[in-house]
Amino acid sequence: MFERDGQPPNQAPARPDSSRGAGARNHTPFWSRRVAHAYLLAGPPGAGHQEAAQEAAAALLCLAPQSGRACGDCAACRQVAAGTHPDLLVPDGHGIDAVRRLLALLSLRPRAGGRKVVLWQDADRLTVQAANALLKSVEEPPPFAVFLFTTDHLPAILPTLRSRCQVVPFRPQPREERAKDLADRSGSSLLAAYWALCACGDRPDAARSYLDEPGCAAEAEVLERAAATLERGGPADALAVGRALAEWGDRAEGAVEVLVWRLRQGEKGQAPGRLLGWTRALAAFRRAWQANANRQLALEVFCWRCWAVAQGNAAYPAVRAAAPAHVVSAAERGDLAMTGAGHPSGVVPGRGWLQGR
Ligand SMILES: [Zn+2]
Repeated sequence: MFERDGQPPNQAPARPDSSRGAGARNHTPFWSRRVAHAYLLAGPPGAGHQEAAQEAAAALLCLAPQSGRACGDCAACRQVAAGTHPDLLVPDGHGIDAVRRLLALLSLRPRAGGRKVVLWQDADRLTVQAANALLKSVEEPPPFAVFLFTTDHLPAILPTLRSRCQVVPFRPQPREERAKDLADRSGSSLLAAYWALCACGDRPDAARSYLDEPGCAAEAEVLERAAATLERGGPADALAVGRALAEWGDRAEGAVEVLVWRLRQGEKGQAPGRLLGWTRALAAFRRAWQANANRQLALEVFCWRCWAVAQGNAAYPAVRAAAPAHVVSAAERGDLAMTGAGHPSGVVPGRGWLQGR
C-alpha cells in the first residue's frame, strides 16, 4: 500500500486532455480578452480547434482560472471533465429538435451562477432549418451565454451564422510535429503515431484511441518492413508490397502517406532528387486514387516508382526493364500527365524521368 508521502512527486492533478489543444497552446487564449457572445473556431482536421473549444468551455466555466485557462482542479473543472457540468450545453444532434431543446435550456438562468456555455462541434452539420432557428439567439443571446462553434469546413457554414460569430482560424501543425507529440504522450513509436494520424483522417482524438489498439502497432511494423523493402528489396518485392496494400482497402491511402514520409526520413538532406522523386510518386498516386483508377494497379505503380527512385537515375534502364510493361506504362503516363509534357504516346521519357531534372 502506498503512503501519501511515498507517492511520486511529479504527478499533476488530472486535467482534461484538451488543455493541450494545439491552436491555443502558445498564445494568449482568444477567450481571455473581452469575451464575445459567439465564437466559430475553424480549421482543417487536426488543427487543434476542436480541442481549443473544449479548453475554452472549461476556462469560461472554471471558478479559479489561471492566466485565462481552466485550473483543472475546482468543482466546475471536475464537472466539465466528467461531462456533468449543468451549464455546459452540448447539443445532442444537428437538427431543429436539438436547437429547440437547447433554446429551452438557454431560457433558464445558469445553475452554477456564472455563465452558460454552448459547445457546438462540427457546426457545418447543422441543417439549414436548425441554423436559421439558432440565428436570433446567437445574435442576441442571454447575457450569461457564450456560444462556441467549431468546424472543419468553414465554407459549409451558413453565411448568416458565420457573420454573427467571431471567427477564430486555426492552422494545422505539420503532421510530423503532431505525430511527435502523440508519440511522446502515448509512448508509442513515431511511425505508429504517424500511421495513427493518417489512418484516422488526422483527427487527434481518434488517433489517440487507435494508438491504444494492438492492431495499430502491428500495422506500423508492416509499414516499416514495407518501407525497407522499397529501399532495399528487389522489383518483384516492391510490386508485392503494392498488392498487399491493395488488401487494406480505403486505408491504403493513409499507408502510402506513411511510406513516403518514412522514405523521406531515411534520406533527409542527402539526395534532393530522391525526395522529389518520392513526392512526385505520391502526387501521381493521389491523382490516380481520386480518379478511381484501378486501385491495385495504382498501388503497384506507386510502390514500383518508390523502389525505382531509391535505385537512382543511373539505374533507370535496368529498373524499367525489371517491371511488367503495364506497370511501366501506367507509371510513365501518370508522370507525363502530371508534368503536362504533351501526348504520351511514343514519348520515351528521358534520363530525368524519375527525378524531374
Ligand atoms: Zn477550475
